[in-house]
Amino acid sequence: MINFNELTEIIESNNSFLLTTHVNPDADAIGSEIAFYQILKKLKKEIKIINHSAMPYNLQFLDAEHQIEKYEEAKHKKFLFEYDVLVALDFNRADRLVSMQDSFTESNKLKICIDHHQDAELFADHFFTGSDYAATGHIIYDFILKTSIVKMNREIAYPIYAAIMTDTGSFRFERTTPELHGIVADLLNYDIQPSEVFNKLYDESKLSKIKLLGRCLNSLQIIDGKIGYMTITQIDFNELDAIESDTENFVNHILSIEGVKLGLLFIELKNGFKVSFRSKGTLPVNKLAAEFGGGGHLNASGARFRDKQMKEMTPEILNKAKTYSEKHLKEENV
Ligand code: 5GP
Ligand code: MN
Repeated sequence: MINFNELTEIIESNNSFLLTTHVNPDADAIGSEIAFYQILKKLKKEIKIINHSAMPYNLQFLDAEHQIEKYEEAKHKKFLFEYDVLVALDFNRADRLVSMQDSFTESNKLKICIDHHQDAELFADHFFTGSDYAATGHIIYDFILKTSIVKMNREIAYPIYAAIMTDTGSFRFERTTPELHGIVADLLNYDIQPSEVFNKLYDESKLSKIKLLGRCLNSLQIIDGKIGYMTITQIDFNELDAIESDTENFVNHILSIEGVKLGLLFIELKNGFKVSFRSKGTLPVNKLAAEFGGGGHLNASGARFRDKQMKEMTPEILNKAKTYSEKHLKEENV
């Protein structure tokens, strides 16, 4: 159980709050920042929202007041040492902050983490976390419900709805419970149109994204009928003028193949690469990602490899994935 009274006390006894989220933010990351910002704004707090990554173009609609800034050391570093409270939303490891990590870690300001991932690193002073929540936005909803710290309104409900929609894969992943649908029903009372939010999130893609998906699907390989993997290189990004956030959800196509239990998407970055891991059923990919210093959820995890060559490391990662899934499937059948 999250101690929401403690969170209320922290908010009430401080004046300025700096909110941040993980690299390559999704709608739960951005939606949680905006919802929490709206709460703090109602309470007349001083607020800044600063992220390592630029805002993905399909999420800009969530930041109607243009509050979110992209971190630039010369301009923003000082705020991490000046604001009373640093609020980490939707992540639980400092390395997810990339360029902001060192300053965040060095700062002696109060740090709080609001998140729904498993296996938190002790990088904050207070944790308001629970891995049975479907989204960080779900935690923020619960916070308002349990404490009545502010009255729910459309400005808060809208980003929370977007957060829950994305992190539940549009209301189909495991943590989509009757209780969660009750919350979603409540949110819809605040003049929210599901189709409008869905269209903004998923149906306003650039052509470059769809072309990139085509190339990505073309790269698909299947191992033993159970593991699928795809690759996107820097050449693909450059030739198609696409960006990392365009790759969101690509990996799920692998799991749409009958019999495939584990999907990996290798994405080459400017300085290194990342791997997205997805699984069907009980195969815990967060443990597999953890073998490479990553993490995440049971069925959706990721790991980043800084300054490493993707091509060189791919066979080793696939081998580990193969051994891992064979071991798990064997144990499951015992
Ligand atoms: P994605 O594959 O969509 O980037 O990430 C899937 C999930 O894995 C996300 O919920 C995210 O929190 C987690 N994740 C992705 N990359 C990393 C990483 O480098 N480190 C950790 N700890 N978690 C990650
Ligand atoms: Mn999330």
